[in-house]
Amino acid sequence: MTEINVVANLNRVQQRLRNAERDAGRSEGCVALLAVSKTKPVSLIRQLAAAGQQAFGENYAQEAIDKAQQLAELPLEWHFIGPIQSNKTKGLATHMDWIHSIDRLKIARRLSEQRSPERSPLQVCLQVNVSGEASKSGIPPTQLTELAHEVAALPNLVLRGLMAIPDKASSSRQDTGPFDELRELLETLRRDWQGSPPPLDTLSMGMSADLEAAVMAGSTVVRVGTDVFGAR
Ligand SMILES: *Cc1c(COP(=O)(O)O)cnc(C)c1O
Repeated sequence: MTEINVVANLNRVQQRLRNAERDAGRSEGCVALLAVSKTKPVSLIRQLAAAGQQAFGENYAQEAIDKAQQLAELPLEWHFIGPIQSNKTKGLATHMDWIHSIDRLKIARRLSEQRSPERSPLQVCLQVNVSGEASKSGIPPTQLTELAHEVAALPNLVLRGLMAIPDKASSSRQDTGPFDELRELLETLRRDWQGSPPPLDTLSMGMSADLEAAVMAGSTVVRVGTDVFGAR
């Protein structure tokens, strides 16, 4: 097995992110980097944690729960970005800090019920199926306003924004289309909010292949796996 220098990779991705922020005319450091560690060993997460990376993303529920428990002594921030089944909500509500992939009220309700009120609330994003979406998951934009208001009313969740996973073929370093669509959906949601609005300050979009386009379109957190941890 070839040694992979994840810390050097992390520094390269951080540099890319700073360049993308500058090219987009945005302030330095305004986009957060979520290191997506799915399928990768905790030893590599420890190396990155020692280099200062705190936010890690996982998209298989049991793996996310196991890793968060194994690394509980480190001051890490755990983000769940994958599909959610009802029988995993308890573990996710207990061990995650963020959930990016809410696309059903039923799941949001369970997460809120199972999050201890003594803890800080779970920070959540709704996953939207924008044009050219790779996965089948995510709500259609027409259902966004209703679900957002329902989720925002749940006691132990804080609705922070939206997430999308555009298809690799339709998003590239240049194509900002699907990312612009997600930003516009967040802007509309904020503008038309009925009642006292949740923070709605997060656009979770951009991965290894397309982070530049996502930053150009207004991303606030990019989710990078391959370019930090190597191919899966
Ligand atoms: C795996 C994954 C990523 C990271 O993708 P890379 O192309 O490896 O950077 C980002 N977001 C989600 C939802 C993922 O499942």
